[in-house]
Amino acid sequence: MTCNDALLQRSLNAVWHPCTQMKHHAETGAASLPLIPIARGNGVWLYDFDGKRYLDAISSWWVNLFGHANPRINAALREQMDELEHVILAGFTHRPAIELSERLSALTGGVLGHCFFASDGASATEIALKMSFHFWRNRGNGKKQDFLCLKGGYHGETAGALSVTDVPLFKDAYAPLVRVSATVDSPDARLARDGETPADVARRTADSLRRHLEAHHETTAALIVEPLVQCANGMSMYDPEYLRRARALCDQYSVHLICDEIAVGCGRTGTFFAHEQAAIRPDILCLSKGISGGYLPLSIVLTTNAVFEAFYDDATARGFLHSHSYTGNALACRAALETLNIFESDGIIEKNRALSAHIACCIAHIAEHPRVKNPRQRGMIAAFDVATDDPGFSRKFYREALKREILLRPIGTTVYFMPPYTITRDECEFLAQRTSETLAAALEDSGEK
Ligand SMILES: *Cc1c(COP(=O)(O)O)cnc(C)c1O
Repeated sequence: MTCNDALLQRSLNAVWHPCTQMKHHAETGAASLPLIPIARGNGVWLYDFDGKRYLDAISSWWVNLFGHANPRINAALREQMDELEHVILAGFTHRPAIELSERLSALTGGVLGHCFFASDGASATEIALKMSFHFWRNRGNGKKQDFLCLKGGYHGETAGALSVTDVPLFKDAYAPLVRVSATVDSPDARLARDGETPADVARRTADSLRRHLEAHHETTAALIVEPLVQCANGMSMYDPEYLRRARALCDQYSVHLICDEIAVGCGRTGTFFAHEQAAIRPDILCLSKGISGGYLPLSIVLTTNAVFEAFYDDATARGFLHSHSYTGNALACRAALETLNIFESDGIIEKNRALSAHIACCIAHIAEHPRVKNPRQRGMIAAFDVATDDPGFSRKFYREALKREILLRPIGTTVYFMPPYTITRDECEFLAQRTSETLAAALEDSGEK
C-alpha cells in the first residue's frame, strides 16, 4: 500500500466529504469516484503523495486566485500570525479588519461604506437577507418579509440561504425545512428564443421581474442575484442589461438589490466586481471565496449608508444582532489585504484581459466538437455544454480528467474552466489539450462518440 492508498482509506473511514455520495468512493468500475490525498500545492498544481500532479482548473471550488502556496500571501500570514491571530470583533477591533473595510468600500467608490464580517458564503447570504428584512422593519415596513431570486440561482446551502437557492439537487431533500421564496425567470442567454440576442433575453426576463414586483412589491424585501454568471447553475451567463433594469425596478418599487458576488467577485468576470459591468451598485453586496485568495474562510457583506443608518439607534434591539465566533478573523483579513495588494501591484484586472483572451484562443478548437454546445466565456470563466444523455457523464469526465492531470468537475453536462489567475500561457494550452482528450474519453465511456 502506498502512502496515498493508506491516507485515502483513513479518509474514507473518518472524513465525511462534502457534496459527495460517499458510497461512490467505495465502488469500483464505471461508478467509481476517485479520492485523492493531496500532499502539497504550488501555483496551479496540486501534488499527491506519489508525486502525481493535477492542474487545479477550478481554483479549488472557485476560491483560489493567485495559486497555491502563494509566496506573498504566505509571508503576510506569517507576519500576521506573530502579531495577532484572532480577537473578538464585538467591542474590539484590529488593523486588518479596518484596512480591509476601508479598501473594499473604496473599491465601490464609497457607495457601500460599511462592511459586516462572517466566515463563509452561506453566512453572507443569511446576513444579507436578515439585514434587508430588519431594515424594512426598522423603517416601519414590517410587511416586507419576502425575498425574490432567479431561477437556477445559488446562494449557499444553510436553511436561510436555501430559501433563495433554486438548485433542485441541493434543495429538494430539505424542502420541508425551507421557507419558499418566489423565483423569476433567469436571464440565462442559453434560453434565448428564436432570433433573440442576450440583451433581448435580458429585456424579456426583466419584464417578468417587473410584473412580479408590480404585484408583490409591498411584501418583497429584496431581490438577490448573482451578477452576470449563475455559476452553480452550470455557468449561465447573461447580459449586463438585466442588472441595469433590475436596479431601476428595485428603486422604483423600494426593494433592495442584493448582489451575491461570492463567486463572480474579485476579478473573476473581468472587472473587480461583476456589477461594475452594468454601471450600477447594489444596496447589499456579498463577497467570499476569492477574497482571501483561497486561503481562509472569510465573507464580507457591504452595505450602503442608507442600510446602515436604519440600524443606528439607542435601542439595542434595533441594531443588527448577528454574529459568528470567527467574525473578522485577523488572519483571514490579512490574507484578503495581501490579495488586494496583488491586484494593485500586479495590475491583475488588466493582465487578466490578455489572459482570458489567450484562454479563449486555446479552447476555441473544443467548440468544433459536434457534441459541444453553447461555448461561452466571461473573463476568467469559460464553459461549454456537452450534448449527452448519460446521467453519469459528469463523474466519467471528472475521472478521465484526473487521469490526464487536470482537475475539472463538470456541473451536470457543463464543463467549465475557472483557473487561478496565475495560470501560465503554456498551462492554458496544456489544459485545453488535455480537456479535448478527456472529452473524447468521457464520451467513449458513455458510449457516445
Ligand atoms: C459558493 C457560493 C455561495 C456559498 O458560499 P459557501 O462559502 O460555500 O457557503 C453563495 N453564493 C454563491 C454565488 C456561491 O458561488
